[in-house]
Amino acid sequence: MRRPVIAGNWKLNKTIGESLDLVRSLKPLVAEVTEVEIVVAPVYTALAAVAAELADSGIRLAAQNCYPEPSGAFTGEVSPALLKDAGCSHCIVGHSERRQLFGETDAFINAKTTSLLRAGLQVIFCIGETLEERESGQMFDVLSTQVREGLKDLTAQQMNNLIVAYEPVWAIGTGKTASNEQAEEAHAFIRGLLQGCFDQETAATTRILYGGSVKPDNVDGLMAQDDIDGTLVGGASLKAEDFARIVKFG
Ligand code: PEP
Repeated sequence: MRRPVIAGNWKLNKTIGESLDLVRSLKPLVAEVTEVEIVVAPVYTALAAVAAELADSGIRLAAQNCYPEPSGAFTGEVSPALLKDAGCSHCIVGHSERRQLFGETDAFINAKTTSLLRAGLQVIFCIGETLEERESGQMFDVLSTQVREGLKDLTAQQMNNLIVAYEPVWAIGTGKTASNEQAEEAHAFIRGLLQGCFDQETAATTRILYGGSVKPDNVDGLMAQDDIDGTLVGGASLKAEDFARIVKFG
């Protein structure tokens, strides 16, 4: 009942031309796949060109970030409405690189999330603990705060347009994947948090993705877990063959 989502976060990689090459290679490889929601997230400057290239495909387009205000004196920022105008249907928020490198707080992530939902975009809302937090027994508290503060004041109805991505920081770009059991434990916990914050129906229907060194050779085990509904993929989404194999998990 939860449609799987496989999303590729290209981070700060690829020119417009390289982005177009990647989606042109990807499209035929996943053309037959209908049961999975496929999303790619190029850099801002490639969004409009990639949107045009994806128009005849089922692949959806995400931005990697946004600013919550609709317009005004915010030099260098991009609003949800402008992302929509460029062809995006989704936007990632709260990625650990933004939390760690750019000091983004749960309150700021909440403001972005609310603004994106109001603009009619789907939100890929990232959370996850650091290695230090996990090893010192704070993982559940950290996830709980990120969910409660990041999703503060959202309605159950708005949650229909939000996808959670659990990305343990120690597994991102490190080659270390959470074991299937570690990932499932966190996902089941997050689903319980959603029930507490919203209701049973929201907990049961919200898609929760795993992210952190997902590759063709570990995706099948992760996707076999009850509470894992998809993956957010960094490095392996930069190669069409690898990403297509991840899309065709199972
Ligand atoms: C990410 O950027 O969200 C990510 C999970 O990266 P990687 O797959 O490279 O670990």
